Amino acid sequence: MAASCIFCKIIKGEIPSMKVFESEKTLAFLDINPLSLGHALVIPKHHGATLTDIPDDSLSELLPVAAKLARATGAEQYNILQNNGEMAHQVVKHVHLHMIPKPNENEGLGISWPQQ
Ligand code: IMP
Repeated sequence: MAASCIFCKIIKGEIPSMKVFESEKTLAFLDINPLSLGHALVIPKHHGATLTDIPDDSLSELLPVAAKLARATGAEQYNILQNNGEMAHQVVKHVHLHMIPKPNENEGLGISWPQQ
């Protein structure tokens, strides 16, 4: 944990969030400034700024959780994005995967999160 990290504060419950998944090593919550309905962030509870700062056993959970959340949105199409470093447009220096669903044509989404 890093005292000044906003995502560590979310993990500790010091800042509120809309949680959609939690396990021992991983947390997912809705992005405060979503690019689409259901835009979620998947983070390791282990603090680290970029992928190379996170142990493999934490890293390996992130993509399956992102896929699980994508499935939960019902979206047929979605982006999974992950930025490392300021030049790569990373703003929050705690590793996170963006899961950004695209609305299904003429249907929107029928989201049913695993945990909320
Ligand atoms: P980055 O550019 O990949 O670092 O994206 C950081 C993301 O974190 C942005 O999409 C922000 O909207 C999101 N974000 C920042 N603070 C919060 C928060 O307190 N709750 C939820 N999402 C946040």
